[in-house]
Amino acid sequence: MTDSLAPALPRTAEPTPSTTDGLDAWRSMAAVQQPSWQDAGVYSASVKELSSLPPLVFAGEVDVLRERLAAAAQGKAFLLQGGDCAETFDGATADKISARVRTILQMAVVLTYGASLPVIKMGRMAGQFAKPRSSNDETRDGVTLPAYRGDMVNGYDFTPESRAHDASRMVKAYHTSASTLNLIRAFTQGGFADLRLVHHWNKGFMANPAHSRYESLAREIDRAVRFMDACGTDFEALKRVEFFASHEALLLDYERALTRIDSRTSLPYDTSAHFLWIGERTRDIDGAHVDFLSRVRNPIGVKLGPSTSADDALALIDKLDPNREPGRLTFITRMGASNIREKLPSLVERVTASGAQVLWVTDPMHGNTVTSPNGYKTRNFDDVIDEVRGFFEVHNALGTFPGGLHVEMTGDDVAECLGGADPIDQEAFLERYESVCDPRLNHMQSLEMAFLVAGALSR
Ligand code: PEP
Ligand code: MN
Repeated sequence: MTDSLAPALPRTAEPTPSTTDGLDAWRSMAAVQQPSWQDAGVYSASVKELSSLPPLVFAGEVDVLRERLAAAAQGKAFLLQGGDCAETFDGATADKISARVRTILQMAVVLTYGASLPVIKMGRMAGQFAKPRSSNDETRDGVTLPAYRGDMVNGYDFTPESRAHDASRMVKAYHTSASTLNLIRAFTQGGFADLRLVHHWNKGFMANPAHSRYESLAREIDRAVRFMDACGTDFEALKRVEFFASHEALLLDYERALTRIDSRTSLPYDTSAHFLWIGERTRDIDGAHVDFLSRVRNPIGVKLGPSTSADDALALIDKLDPNREPGRLTFITRMGASNIREKLPSLVERVTASGAQVLWVTDPMHGNTVTSPNGYKTRNFDDVIDEVRGFFEVHNALGTFPGGLHVEMTGDDVAECLGGADPIDQEAFLERYESVCDPRLNHMQSLEMAFLVAGALSR
């Protein structure tokens, strides 16, 4: 983990009243994967504006999420976290946002039945606009330009103007997050989440003969819903669901500017999202990201790839969850299907032996990325499912709880991942590959995954 993109500009030091003590300590540490903003004036003005804008989420909601995640860490709930690899400004349309929320709600119904547990619903949404990249540059036809780092930093178009790092994009990311969150809140609080309606949507999935193998589970869910109805369940009360927002806390200027002191507790909350995670490339124990996130009250996730040692995991626990507070820390493992059964057990064993109670979640996407013969970044549905199975096997063998699923998915009919019961092949990429970053499960593949995981959870 080297600092490949050293910031070109000095960071503005803000006055630090006692409650914000330490929130700026990261500024003197190695901060990898940060942009080199082009214009110092635009940078200062953007940070200043973000610092004065209203919070996107509220501290009380963040506290509720921490309680929900604590239940999951104790085996009493299951986390479903999903959305785009990289949201885009253009993609923040009512149709696309509602399709994604709808798909997550559909998956959640199936998983709730399979697990017989509440499912915590969380989007990689309303803020997932910045991407870490393994290379600083991209070369096409002999022309080299800065790599695309997410709409919060630069544009996807391959021109020097578009690829320049523009700090005013952070302000646009804030406003796009606000309108996305507004729509999510309206959908999930305004009747759109009616259990009977969501269940009805799943019948569309079953209508495809390719999915006939899931028929018995679908029939069981149908019977359960009818049983609830017959018992006089108040379906009106089930129309409103909790839905939380999350993204990778990559751009520290943005996260710091949206951090506010909660008037109830006098503690700092990063109000850009309910849940924030630290990526595989920025989880250095001595780095700026871990330091900054150790100081906010939000529940925090850390991605753990195959090179993670048990000592790394224990050091992260000491720094991010010194009080061993259930719900505070989530480890999102992304080992790859071929590694998970070998690498995960020692991590889980050592963490459990240390007395910490973290929430274990599987990200079966990021360890299984390959290039298709026709040159697209893709993932095989079977590898993704195999990693999930490995994750369950390891936890079941150790007596620990496999507490959640983190997926890159969309509600649209894209072709980005290979396979599934109604298989996507690489020829379909030519017409329907839309992701600007990593490949996502499409609507049907996402539902199929939910049915497969529900089957594993109910055993
Ligand atoms: C991501 O979640 O899009 C990502 C880059 O993941 P990771 O940090 O696990 O590589
Ligand atoms: Mn990704």
